[in-house]
Amino acid sequence: MSCQHGHRAQQQAEYPVQNPGPGAKWIKHLTQNRLGTFTGGHFADVNLTSILFTHRLDDESHVKLQVWSAPGLTKPSFEEAMKQKFKPAKKGDSFGPSWTNHWWKVSVSIPSYWQQYERVQFEFDPGCEAMIYTTDGVPLQGITGGFGGDRRVDYIIPQEAVEKGKMDFVIESSCNGMFGVPWNGDTIAPPDMNRYFSLASADLVVPNQEAWRLMWDFSTLREIVDTVPGNTPLQNQALTVANEIMNIFDKGEPNTIEKARKAAEKVFGEGWDEKGEKIYEEGPERPLVWGIGHCHIDTAWLWPYRVTQQKVARSWSTQVDLMERYPEHRFTCSQAQQYKWLEQLYPPLFERVKEKILSGQFHPVGGSWVENDSNMPSGEALARQFIYGQRYFQSRFGKRCDTAWLPDSFGLSGALPQLIRLADMKYFFTQKLSWNNINTFPHSTFNWVGIDGSQVMCHMTPVDTYTAQATVGDVNKALTNHKNLESNDSALLVFGNGDGGGGPLSKMLENLRRIRATTNNHRELPPVVMGRSVEDFFEDVAKSTNQGQTLPNWHGELYLEFHRGTYTSHGSIKRGNRKSEILLRDVEHVTTLASFATFAHKDYNYPKDKIDTCWEKVLLNQFHDVLPGSAIGMVYEDAEKLYAEVAKDGKALLDEAFEAILPHSIPLIAENLAKMRAPGELVAVNTTFFPRRDVVKVPLTGGASQFQSRVIQTSRDGTGYALMECAEKTSVAVCKGLYADSRPVSVFTNGSDHFVLRNSSVQLTISGGRITSLYDVQLERELIPKGESGGLVIFEDRPNYWDAWDVEIHHLEKRKPLEFANISVTAEGPLRASISSEFRYGQSTISVTISLDAIAATTKPGSRSMFTFDADVDWHQRHEFLKFEMPLDIHSDNATYETQFGYVQRPTHKNTTWDSAKFEVCGHKYADLSEFGYGVALLSESKYGFSCLGNVLRISLLRGATAPDAEQDQGKHEFSWAVMPHAGHFLESDVPLAGYLFNSPLYVRYVPREGRPLLEKIKVPFAVEGARNVFLETIKRGDDDDFASADSPKTIVLRLYEAFGGHAKAKLRIASFIPVKEAYVTNLLEDAGEKLTLWSTTDSTADPVIILDFHGFEVKTVKLVIGSGGFALPLQSVEKVESWVNVEKP
Ligand SMILES: [Zn+2]
Repeated sequence: MSCQHGHRAQQQAEYPVQNPGPGAKWIKHLTQNRLGTFTGGHFADVNLTSILFTHRLDDESHVKLQVWSAPGLTKPSFEEAMKQKFKPAKKGDSFGPSWTNHWWKVSVSIPSYWQQYERVQFEFDPGCEAMIYTTDGVPLQGITGGFGGDRRVDYIIPQEAVEKGKMDFVIESSCNGMFGVPWNGDTIAPPDMNRYFSLASADLVVPNQEAWRLMWDFSTLREIVDTVPGNTPLQNQALTVANEIMNIFDKGEPNTIEKARKAAEKVFGEGWDEKGEKIYEEGPERPLVWGIGHCHIDTAWLWPYRVTQQKVARSWSTQVDLMERYPEHRFTCSQAQQYKWLEQLYPPLFERVKEKILSGQFHPVGGSWVENDSNMPSGEALARQFIYGQRYFQSRFGKRCDTAWLPDSFGLSGALPQLIRLADMKYFFTQKLSWNNINTFPHSTFNWVGIDGSQVMCHMTPVDTYTAQATVGDVNKALTNHKNLESNDSALLVFGNGDGGGGPLSKMLENLRRIRATTNNHRELPPVVMGRSVEDFFEDVAKSTNQGQTLPNWHGELYLEFHRGTYTSHGSIKRGNRKSEILLRDVEHVTTLASFATFAHKDYNYPKDKIDTCWEKVLLNQFHDVLPGSAIGMVYEDAEKLYAEVAKDGKALLDEAFEAILPHSIPLIAENLAKMRAPGELVAVNTTFFPRRDVVKVPLTGGASQFQSRVIQTSRDGTGYALMECAEKTSVAVCKGLYADSRPVSVFTNGSDHFVLRNSSVQLTISGGRITSLYDVQLERELIPKGESGGLVIFEDRPNYWDAWDVEIHHLEKRKPLEFANISVTAEGPLRASISSEFRYGQSTISVTISLDAIAATTKPGSRSMFTFDADVDWHQRHEFLKFEMPLDIHSDNATYETQFGYVQRPTHKNTTWDSAKFEVCGHKYADLSEFGYGVALLSESKYGFSCLGNVLRISLLRGATAPDAEQDQGKHEFSWAVMPHAGHFLESDVPLAGYLFNSPLYVRYVPREGRPLLEKIKVPFAVEGARNVFLETIKRGDDDDFASADSPKTIVLRLYEAFGGHAKAKLRIASFIPVKEAYVTNLLEDAGEKLTLWSTTDSTADPVIILDFHGFEVKTVKLVIGSGGFALPLQSVEKVESWVNVEKP
């Protein structure tokens, strides 16, 4: 029976003369609406839903449950849990509070007559997340409880157990949902810490498999009806067939299911179902939509790291299980950290995953440690994300990734293409720019060209999500929303539930088979293909676009027009990140030298494992919801703990290394003052490769009182100020007197509201609490426009929804200038002049000390002095944004902001909506506004938010969002920034250098007098000459060095980059005490590349040099192979090595 609306459907031999029927006008929308009544809803007791299960048992004779609840928030292992005393439990019992873990022992007895059925399942729904284990601890699959679309509560009982009639297993349930435990279902509300979950189901069931298949048939047809544009043959056919199925179905007649399924073959093709995964081998040859299973697991977000570890195990075990039943299924997952957690915490499951990786079904992707934020990590940290990631994948699975994968990061730095290429990858997948709330990004598949000109082939899935549900709509959108069909006709469909959802569900794989079956007979949907990898997809794009030549290009950063508050939210995390990155750079530098300093500590070993552990913690905290400040408060407790560990361990590593290089020296800190009784000297280690002068605070109490003669100025509280200089070609700064070229500073005041800090280069005036003048004394140039003033400012900060994420454009409309109040002079010169202000704003206390020193910002000739602002804030504002601003009498269409290994320029105007969108941007150590002849920079040591709108340059200091962390940024903060005027445009300036030094304080140490002779000879081990635009960033030992064996080759790895955006020919001078045998340029992974020539210099040093050519923003890694015995640092000179080439002049 397939009549519709009274059509007379009988076959007629001839067109009849008479027509007694009523005729028909199909009312299409009513039929379409009817489809909604076939499953669930009002008619659930008579429609298809009513027959989905043939049997259901939950009594104690069939399902026996025992439970043990782990105390507090502990997360015991399987083994620990099994030793505990379990007690009986039953359906309906409730468990909690939030974040607690509960272990279940489950015994099921299966009636013998159930052996006749195709499948028996155990349905377990604790309302939260859970994992099923074998009784010997092998994870089997995850459970996502509750009644959302991501529900996954069925475990298929193996056939042997059904035959045996019984089975035991173990379940761990955890009291959080997919998105943590938000209040009232608002995703980003802070977690409800006292939520209880009740056990909704623990049932043994027999599903009616044929009824389920009909449901999937029907659901695919309905999706076609709702998705394919109206009035196409396919859409109408799907609707008539779905309607026909409803007419055929009769709950009381089981054979109608088979008939109804047969009707569905009119759309899917005859016998399509028996073909199984082979359905993908028929039909159109060229696949347009490439399906790949995925589970986007945020490494922490609305739940802490320890919960993610469980989510990973649940999701991946589920996928491994699904692969057994769907051979076409491929699953891809990124983040080496998640694999490492699995390896450490779930070894049997790790082995199962590894098998699937080796068999080619489970695909590691991304090549990075975590899916990191890409705005804020330093250049070196971004490099390490890839280095640690790729090395992990290679070491465990014998294979590196080809595709970088950052679908959810809040904007993508233009430094990435080069780093991706240098990490041995060439493809890049992302998606987040589809969230732009102003402009639509114009490409789907394109060449992404970074700041240095390197390109990666980039795909932003037109499906606009990395958690697609594999619906007809998703498949269709892959083409209808594709923005470059003129140059490429394919797209990735990345599907599967993320976070606690466990990846693809079997219904998605079923749906895709039906969709493919449909496209094998119809042309109205693009053909979807399965069983391939992301890499296969990109290779196909490369092939079909003449290696990208016919693709459009996008140059520079992929700026996300959204989530701009994340450069500022959670100040403590930003600070932890910056300080840790710099500490680890210093640790690697000093420990590398110490590892060769055989004269002092023969048994000193390069602490590779400890350094790796520190880096892994820093890289973990760079996850794209942690560093941006968009996670719940619990996450920040963990993150701050990790930063504290890095600070402690890093400092200990530095101290051990300093002990090897500067024997008997100790840091100049309060707790060491008593140990400085013996006469000694103050020295400071400069871990940068720039000569410098610094003003250093010296306490003049205890043993340090001997340094009275070293200080140039003493403040009222007894603190001394010394001038230290690290001259060219040395690594150690020593105390000096005021030079002839020093610029003694002074401070003038009228005693109440007018203060002037001045030296012979610059002058700053604060009047009425505002900065009313910034003056270049040498050029007699005023930099603040008449009638305007700089200083602190508050903006009302009420974003439209994503609180911790967004500062919205309208915040600029409510601005309230603050005045520095209660100002007093706290240092009067001649070396440092400071004024301090402390005042209340709302519930907060803001203290700022503004200082000017008698030295220039850098040793570059003509460098001006800078004004530093040291702030101490007790912050208790909410939804208010504290910034510091300087209106400048400088005109330029662009401002310059530091990014990884270079800078990025952004407009100061709002010509177009693309320009307007950049009203708050990310920068690292500096932001600069320059015109011909002059510029002013703001330097930052822990803040990342900046803007320059018109002539007003701003640095963002503190926010106070209340979701998802109700207490974000409440409490004490310490941070600094500086105002740095400079003669000449940014490109002629020393701003990048000053930003570098501002972030890298000297390590001041006391050395007893006997250590002194050593110091005189500490030469700088490496120096870059002939190119002021090339910076030496990193010194470390080679990643492949064998630190256990004394005879294995030793290597030193240096990373340099061009910082100004132009070519350079740099000479890398290597101190002659380092016996370099060979040198190579390598990629980030330290694969040996081009061999470099070691040139011998003709000067008295006998230092070898390497000539390095750079293009703008190029990053170069150089590996030096050192003679096996190590070298004495720095006393013993070494023989010339034969391989050096002697020339007159390199
Ligand atoms: Zn994410």
